[in-house]
Amino acid sequence: MASERSTGSSQKDDGTGRTFGRLADDEPVGMVTGHFNHCQNCGHEPLIPIMDFGHHPPCDSLVRPAQLTKPEAFYPLHLFRCDRCGLVQIDYAVDPAELFYEEYPYMTGITGALKSNFDAMAGKVIETLRLQPGSLVVDIGSNDGTILQGFKTRGMRVLGVEPTGIAKIANSRGITTLQAFFNQDVAQDVLKKEGPASLITAANVFAHVANLGPCLRGIHALLADNGTFISESHYLLDLIDTLQYDTIYHEHLRFYSIKPMQDMMKRFGFSVVDVERIPNHGGSIRVYAVKGTEGQPSARMQELVKQEEAYGLYDSALYVTFKQRVEQSKWKLMHLLSDLKLKGHRIVGIGSPGRSSTVMNYCGIGPDYLDYTAEQATSLKVGLFTPGTHVPVVDEKKLFEDQPDYALVLAWHLGETVPRKLRSKGLRSKFIMPLPDPVILDW
Ligand SMILES: [Zn+2]
Repeated sequence: MASERSTGSSQKDDGTGRTFGRLADDEPVGMVTGHFNHCQNCGHEPLIPIMDFGHHPPCDSLVRPAQLTKPEAFYPLHLFRCDRCGLVQIDYAVDPAELFYEEYPYMTGITGALKSNFDAMAGKVIETLRLQPGSLVVDIGSNDGTILQGFKTRGMRVLGVEPTGIAKIANSRGITTLQAFFNQDVAQDVLKKEGPASLITAANVFAHVANLGPCLRGIHALLADNGTFISESHYLLDLIDTLQYDTIYHEHLRFYSIKPMQDMMKRFGFSVVDVERIPNHGGSIRVYAVKGTEGQPSARMQELVKQEEAYGLYDSALYVTFKQRVEQSKWKLMHLLSDLKLKGHRIVGIGSPGRSSTVMNYCGIGPDYLDYTAEQATSLKVGLFTPGTHVPVVDEKKLFEDQPDYALVLAWHLGETVPRKLRSKGLRSKFIMPLPDPVILDW
């Protein structure tokens, strides 16, 4: 497996045995693993603290039964912003090999809404970019190949790059996938074998890349001169607006808005030419970038930047209020759950998405509140325990046998879709939506 850490950057030891550092002075800033003081984009320091969530385990490191008697690693989860470029970020990068391990349990294709969104995206992108059949499309962090499937069925040559064992599942489904962290070496190998890519995509992985330099330089090398690089990232404005603090976890090193993204892409020789807001993961942006720094922003992108500024996304006052809102949300949720427990009710969880880990660890929701959390039978998480809080993850059929009093919807960002589906299948429990303000659905 290629290592994201082989960067050629100047590194120093921080005394903890981990290496971290920045690239040479004439290079854009990067970092490897561990704690850092400087902005991940522009290198400015110090960063301005927004909120300290305490120490948390990696959100997708579910615990196997045999591991329950062993120590578990927790890392700092502290949110900051840079007052020079505006990038909101955390200040600690867990080793990617620990976050995106061989048995990593998340599969894109398991979320039905995402699957159909990605299929629609393929059709639309092919039309907009006028991609010819046989064009090479490369997806970085391609997971189970869900995104590429849409391009393949429309006649494109596709190649995935995915560091976890899910690469094998993609290959078995006929989506050629290299099991590796994407970097310049991987880019050169692909270039030699397949030629330049007309389109490179990176959906919901761009915030995950610890060391941006090797990744973005690799993309620049592999992309055809008239090619397009499309990234999708959770959108900071949606995160703040709808209080999605549960998306703050170690896999997400940066929370993107347009201005810092534009600045970052420019450092690596790209221009952002268009941005659209999309519903994925509770509100994301799809960012279109081309090679060269002369590309002009579309009218809709300029309009979005104005909206960001009007919302206060680049002002410190917004983040002071954000912290207060998060704390109030926690107090209300724990008040509700504690009250129900004191009255003798049984509560279980619905789903075990990565994002539920932050809420559960930050609020302290363990087996004392939830008897278990239920996942689709096909989920790789069934039989494991939630990270840090150790709530058992079970096959959702148990819900229907048990009919618990209350069900806490941990995938709340999908709205009422999941509760309505479970109700139609015969679940009689009352549903609790935990965020932004906890509510009990009374239908
Ligand atoms: Zn900065």
